[in-house]
Order: sequence, then structure tokens, then C-alpha cells
Amino acid sequence: MGDTDSNGINKIQTMTHPNPTLCEQATIREVGLRDGLQSISRILPTAQKLQWIQGAYDAGQREIEVGSFVPPRLLPQLADTEELVVFAKTLPGLKASVLVPNLRGAKRAIAAQAYSMLLPLSASHAHSLANMRRPPDEVVDDIQTIVKARDAAGSATRIEIGLSTAFGCTLQGKVEPVEVLRLVKAVIDAGVDCVGLADTVGYADPAMVKRLFELCLPVAGDKLNCGHFHDTRGLGLANVYAAMQVGIRRFDACLAGIGGCPHAPGASGNVSTEDLAHMLLSMGIATGIDFGKLMALRAQVAGWLQGENLYGTLWRAGLPKTLQAA
Ligand code: ZN
Repeated sequence: MGDTDSNGINKIQTMTHPNPTLCEQATIREVGLRDGLQSISRILPTAQKLQWIQGAYDAGQREIEVGSFVPPRLLPQLADTEELVVFAKTLPGLKASVLVPNLRGAKRAIAAQAYSMLLPLSASHAHSLANMRRPPDEVVDDIQTIVKARDAAGSATRIEIGLSTAFGCTLQGKVEPVEVLRLVKAVIDAGVDCVGLADTVGYADPAMVKRLFELCLPVAGDKLNCGHFHDTRGLGLANVYAAMQVGIRRFDACLAGIGGCPHAPGASGNVSTEDLAHMLLSMGIATGIDFGKLMALRAQVAGWLQGENLYGTLWRAGLPKTLQAA
């Protein structure tokens, strides 16, 4: 802190920063095209998804999860993921990630030269059996196989683990923090590039978030670098703030807060991109996001998704006057 350029601007920003212990910059990864659309039964046409990616890029977002390499019969909504990766790669500096459930999907991600593949791993044994049809330790074995396949292919695609149900599970209930820690250590040992903790069903609270990240950071270090929070019970942004207090500065979010969870009917979706971006802007933390463009994109996507449940609050009230010039 305290670096000053010739006109003293950085110094003033630092001095007026509401919380000097927090970071000055944070990344919001847009996951609406995957986490959001996979829980909506209607199929958004590829042309609209391409407009969404372009719009998010134009609004300043540089990390977008564009889809998933799961068999199209399981998630026809995401069947065009390859095409989206190809397009995303034409946008300079855009890091396009894809969700990959197994080695077959990983090979597609490697062939498509995706920037990153997100491999899900459930901390809850019951959720793992329901979702992946295998216990967590077998999924860790698969992750090890995928790391080896990636390395053998000489691929630059990064491997990221999304540790889901890390804060509790609708099927199993409590998930023990020591089990989360054990799995984080196992995937780090397997050679993955980074790990995020995910509150898939909205069971986390800020105290829990702080404790769990604090528990895992000593074994994962900088590789533990993402928080994925759902706003199921209204604690999404509070949980982001809690993770920021222990140094996490990268978060998943969905435009208009779309998404949900098949195991939690009626549950609202992810933290909304625009609300999170507003919170960070208000706190003096840079995200690179242009609000006018982001809100125009939200309106466009809301038009495409008429009849679906959309969330977030910023679109109703707009930015406060104090932030409008930012
Ligand atoms: Zn999610």
C-alpha cells in the first residue's frame, strides 16, 4: 500500500479506502453461461450466447465460463460449448473456462485449447454419489488421471477444481471441514493448478467461509483462489466479503443471478454479477467492469430469458449517484 504516482492519486485512493486490509483489485468470473443456463431448461440459441460473451467482454470481464463438456443428451442447453470456446479464443486476453466432468470431457477441453477446465469434486460423499456416481476419492483418482493426460498432451489448459458442497449439502447435511481440507490437499498433491471452494446449495455463512478458507489456505497457498457462492438464503455477498478478508480476490457470479440447484428446489442462483461488481466498486476495489455496458447486457439477457427467475437488486435502483461517474 502507499505507492504514489506523480500526481498523488494512488495515495489519496489508499488513504480513503474504506478497508485498507482488503485487496485493490478483484476478478469476477462470469459463470452464467454454464452454472446459470444448465439449470434453465430452455435452450439459449448459440447466436445469443456469442452475443453474451462479446457483451461481457466489452463490459470488461476477462474470465468467462462458457459451457461444459458433458454429453449433449444430459445437458442439451450446453451442447454448443466447443463453438463458444472457439469464439472466446478470438477475444484478446479472455480466459475461457469450461466445466469438465471426466477424462472424456477433459480431452475435448484440451483439443479445444480452452484456457482452463473446471473439474467438479464434491466434499459431500452423498452429493458425490448422486452427482458423479462415485465417492470423492475415486473422483480424485480421475483428477490425477486428467492431470497426467493434460501433461502428456503438452497442453497449456489449466486445471481448476471446484470443490462443491464445501459448506454443507442438502443430501448429507453437515460436511466436516477436515474432509474439505483432506480433499484440498489431495487435489493439490495431484498437481492441479488451482482450487475454489463452492457453496453449491447456499448453506454457508460469513463466519464459516472465513474459517474454512483459513483452514485450507496453509495447505493450498495461492492455489486456493476462488469463491463460488450461491445467494440461496441471501448471504451470497456477505460470504464474498468474508472470503476477501482472508485474501481471496476471485469470485464466480452469474449475470442476473441466474441458476439454482436441482437438489434445492426453489432456490435462487449464484451471486449476481452486477450486484457483486457494485459492491466491489463501492468499496474501492477495481474489477475493470463498465456498468453501463454490463447493465445493458443484463437487460438484453433478461429479454432472452423472459419467464425465467432472475435475481439481483442493482438493475432496479441503478448505481447510487455517488458512484455514477466512476
Ligand atoms: Zn454454482
